[in-house]
Amino acid sequence: LVSRENHPERSTVRVGGVPIGPDTVTLIAGPCAVETPQQTLEAAEMAKAAGATLLRGGAFKPRTSPYAFQGLGEEGLRILADVREKTGLPIVTEVVDAHDVELVASYADMLQIGTRNTQNFALLQAVGAAGKPVMLKRGMSGTIEEWLMSAEYIAQRGNLDIVLCERGIRTFETATRNTLDVSAVPVAQRLSHLPVIIDPSHSGGRRDLVLPLTRAAIAVGADGVIIDVHPHPEQALCDGPQALVNGDLRELARVMRQFPPLL
Ligand code: PEP
Repeated sequence: LVSRENHPERSTVRVGGVPIGPDTVTLIAGPCAVETPQQTLEAAEMAKAAGATLLRGGAFKPRTSPYAFQGLGEEGLRILADVREKTGLPIVTEVVDAHDVELVASYADMLQIGTRNTQNFALLQAVGAAGKPVMLKRGMSGTIEEWLMSAEYIAQRGNLDIVLCERGIRTFETATRNTLDVSAVPVAQRLSHLPVIIDPSHSGGRRDLVLPLTRAAIAVGADGVIIDVHPHPEQALCDGPQALVNGDLRELARVMRQFPPLL
């Protein structure tokens, strides 16, 4: 279903009316985690002012350490919905448990599947049946073939509104959190008609790498990027070192506007 063999035209997925696909490079930005109403609104206003058309933000945030901030849950979803009301930006947010899909889908415009859940097949089937577009991260130790098979699980339930997101893979390199696999973009686009975007924030894990990795993403033909921003990264409860501040985000958006979409 997601293969290009029977569907040679590349697809465009619309999220609350915003296109992600071959004719544009979509900027998705927002906080890694929803922390407070004010922090989320400030991050969303930064994102919108820079030209982002979709707002990201995690409400369910199970982390490597069970002692780290775990997200606000439904309260976080309510904050996101309120910020959407104020800014007009449709929301992309992660769902981590099949039992929460209905709840998250009742607030979100796009459901995100995180790297640790790329092969959680029950969750994939549940989001496939939820009637909302899905952003499917690549498993950090998953092959492109496995990633596309995960997309197939979603598509099988009748949902072809899927965007693939390369977010770095595990390699021997420790200088970055994960290694951004830029070749995954053209490879996945050749095999599948689905749009492919890049997450330079979670792959590098470092603010100074977000702009160069975004340039790389655009150069290889990514259909969009998803970027962490925070009004006060030094106070962030989650992934502050990779969050862009206002000026960085404006510069990134300026660089993105210089590149015409690669067709
Ligand atoms: C995220 O985007 O909030 C996130 C946790 O990303 P990943 O699943 O790629 O680590």
